[in-house]
Amino acid sequence: MSDCIFCKIIKGDIPSTTVFRDEHLTAFRDINPAAPTHILLVPNKHIDSVNALTGEDEQLVGHLVKVAGQLAAQEGIAEDGYRLIFNTGAHAGQTVLHIHLHLLGGAPMKYPMG
Ligand code: AMP
Repeated sequence: MSDCIFCKIIKGDIPSTTVFRDEHLTAFRDINPAAPTHILLVPNKHIDSVNALTGEDEQLVGHLVKVAGQLAAQEGIAEDGYRLIFNTGAHAGQTVLHIHLHLLGGAPMKYPMG
């Protein structure tokens, strides 16, 4: 989508600190980190949110989670623990309408979040 900020990052039109990329997804550091490690894993194809997923996306979602675990290990936070979040819709505070998985870790976190 031409006006989507994450599509622009994936295309390279907006700079980002990319930590991983393959044919299916791009992972980059959140510009406003909420934890010492805060990485966003974003499918290269535009999907608005979890609400817009179809059966065809099942493998893609599994891949996002699998790569998140690998990045957690790479960041050195796998053993202490981390959190994976898909904010979906207004009540969850989704601000970018391109589905993304937050990988957060590097310090103890409270649950539930506010
Ligand atoms: P959400 O609130 O779940 O939609 O998360 C969107 C996230 O994208 C927020 O944590 C923002 O800080 C992050 N974000 C917005 N613009 C950028 C950008 N240009 N580069 C990296 N992260 C961004």
